[in-house]
Formats: sequence, structure tokens, C-alpha cells
Amino acid sequence: MHETGIAKRLLSVIHPMVDEKKRITRIKLRFGELKMVQKELLETAFSILTRGDKRFRDTILEIEIRPVRGKCNICRKEFDIKNFEMRCPFCGETSIDITGGYESEIVEMEVEDV
Ligand SMILES: [Zn+2]
Repeated sequence: MHETGIAKRLLSVIHPMVDEKKRITRIKLRFGELKMVQKELLETAFSILTRGDKRFRDTILEIEIRPVRGKCNICRKEFDIKNFEMRCPFCGETSIDITGGYESEIVEMEVEDV
């Protein structure tokens, strides 16, 4: 399950930022569709890996999945790529570049003192 690896990497980034006197109330994450993250699996992996850790008690995990973005090499327009259809919706060209969809970032994190 590749979500476990993602959750582990996420926690390795977060752990040094919060000591035992803090609690993380909310984490907002953003992934590009090409990262193939399944929200439910990531939530499950996260709750298993943080079980018993008071810093992560009742932490709300918000996961946003961004669509794949493409740019047409002919008309230069940018657009969302739906269902992996590699064709420009404006001019019909199939010569397009992938410009987004690989994002993997922590957007926001809310921490409170306990
Ligand atoms: Zn085009």
C-alpha cells in the first residue's frame, strides 16, 4: 500500500516540528492526481501510524486531490486533463505537455498547546 509510505514520509516531516506539548488539530494536504493517492487508504495509514500518539489525537486530515494539468504545444492553452485523455480540448491536438498532477505538499497545519 503506497499510502503507508506517503504517511510515513509525512510524519517524518511533521514530527520534528511538534514536541510533546503540542497537539495537531488539522493538517491539510494536497496531491496531484498522478500521485495516485486514495484518500481513504491514506487516512487509514495515518491513523494506524499515529495511534497512541497524543500529538495526533483527533487530528483532522484534509486531503485535496488536484487534477492533472496539460498545456497544448500547438495553441499553448492550459487545461485540466480528464480521464487521462491526452488531447487538447481547444484544438484537438495530441501534442501536449503535462504541467501539473505530481504535487505532494502540506498546505496548512494547525497546532495547539496542550
Ligand atoms: Zn490546443
